[in-house]
Amino acid sequence: MYAGAGRAGSGPVEGIRPVLYDAVLLDRDGTLIEDVPYNGDPEKVRPVPGARAALDRLRAAGLRLAVVTNQSGLARGYFSAEQMRAVHARIEELLGRFDAWLVCPHDDADGCECRKPAPGLVHAAARELGTRASRCVLVGDIGRDVAAALAAGATGVLVPTPVTRPEEVAAAGWLASDLPSAVDEILRRQQAVRAVPGPVRERAGTALVVRSDSAGDVLVTGPAIRAVAAGAQRVVLLCGPRGRAAADLLPGVDEIIEHPLPWIDPAPAPVEPDAMRTLIARLAAVGADEAVVFTSFHQSALPLALLLRMAGIRRISAISDDYPGSLLDVRHRVPVGVPEPERALSLAAAAGHRLPVDDEPVLRLRPDALPPRPADLGDPGYVVLHPGSAASSRACPPELAARIARSLTAAGHRVLVTGGPDERDVTARVAAAGGTDLGGRTDLPGLAAIVADAGAVVVGNTGPAHLAAAAGVPVVSLFAPTVPFGQWGPYRVPTVRLGNADAPCRDTRAASCPVPAHPCLSGIDPAEVVDALRVLTVSGGGGR
Ligand SMILES: [Zn+2]
Repeated sequence: MYAGAGRAGSGPVEGIRPVLYDAVLLDRDGTLIEDVPYNGDPEKVRPVPGARAALDRLRAAGLRLAVVTNQSGLARGYFSAEQMRAVHARIEELLGRFDAWLVCPHDDADGCECRKPAPGLVHAAARELGTRASRCVLVGDIGRDVAAALAAGATGVLVPTPVTRPEEVAAAGWLASDLPSAVDEILRRQQAVRAVPGPVRERAGTALVVRSDSAGDVLVTGPAIRAVAAGAQRVVLLCGPRGRAAADLLPGVDEIIEHPLPWIDPAPAPVEPDAMRTLIARLAAVGADEAVVFTSFHQSALPLALLLRMAGIRRISAISDDYPGSLLDVRHRVPVGVPEPERALSLAAAAGHRLPVDDEPVLRLRPDALPPRPADLGDPGYVVLHPGSAASSRACPPELAARIARSLTAAGHRVLVTGGPDERDVTARVAAAGGTDLGGRTDLPGLAAIVADAGAVVVGNTGPAHLAAAAGVPVVSLFAPTVPFGQWGPYRVPTVRLGNADAPCRDTRAASCPVPAHPCLSGIDPAEVVDALRVLTVSGGGGR
């Protein structure tokens, strides 16, 4: 690939390091400038409306900029490298300087590691800019751009044009209507996770944080809980029975209270006044100076806020679109579409807490909470295939999982099939097609230990996807679109998304598939999974 000469730029100043992103990578044709196929003529360069001002806003915010572009016209001889440089000089004349230019000169037939959707250009750009892919956000106009970003562990923003295919629009986790609004949202998200400036607050003594619901919900709240922990002497976490095992894995938590919340649980028990009185007494006994109530976008924090008030807690922060009256001191609001970990981080920031500069906004587990991995599993680098899910609508159909196991084994991968005690029938059936059956052999910490040594994890939208993200292990995400991918996709870890993003279950939040034959996932070709694993091993020479 062609890499522009590295330029000495003014990197982010230590201490005010941006929390989410160091750099914005931009596709060229159709994103920065109007797409003139195989253009070698500087006179034909036309920036998209508002591009210069938008890029200058990014520069002013301390973000570094790179162009990442496929130019197969070079391979095909439609223009020369010299003509391309003249076009790039013209682009810089019109749009200002970029800190790096990364060009793939190859054609699809070359099978290179840099032509998007492969992630090579993204890794190379991150390296040139002195950062890593997970701290980059890429803006592009087609599915290849977003796929390259995700496969590198970066964030992808799709700004569709009339030529963008509908399925690419459906699959995008982050959509913007034009380049200036993509830039505005990047800057808004960056700002939202900084602590709100104001009078210096004393370091809180005890903070009570709350995240009910399942293991995945608890895991994605981890960065926000670490942010609160950075500003408190003691952190007590209230979680539900389904999230308890995950809560035990989170860094920054000193004590856990486990209690079901009937307004959160998917199969809720009736509200028992005595149980609520017991909960209020337990919460009061915590002696918390403040409480931060984390929720998903479809859950209400207000019933618990009332109990917290009754427990005497004076400062309560939560996200609420509903009018909270006097239940909240910090009422935070977040637009739809923000990744759950960032949504929670932005609430922590609104409450006055931010991650320390040396803590990346990624999911993490306590290293001391994981047991040793069973020795009989062999060397690291195997593929974990986890077909099940607590919600059947998000599980991989067993018949498909079996075909995936067979294809992966045939392609030379060592496959470990994992699942809970109630999923043994499925894991046995899948592993019979190829792989080792670990169904029912692991609790959550044990599964986390196995996932941590995997080369990749093939899994639906369920807890183990977030365990993989926490371990930095790439994910082939068989993602049923019952909830938005942009909110629930594996966070800041190399990912390939498979499945029909526009299936009828889209955005239904259904726990069991509302559509016969589970069409969002059943159409996946096992060969796509094999290809995805190949893409996810591309590191651009820099590792992850
Ligand atoms: Zn290439």
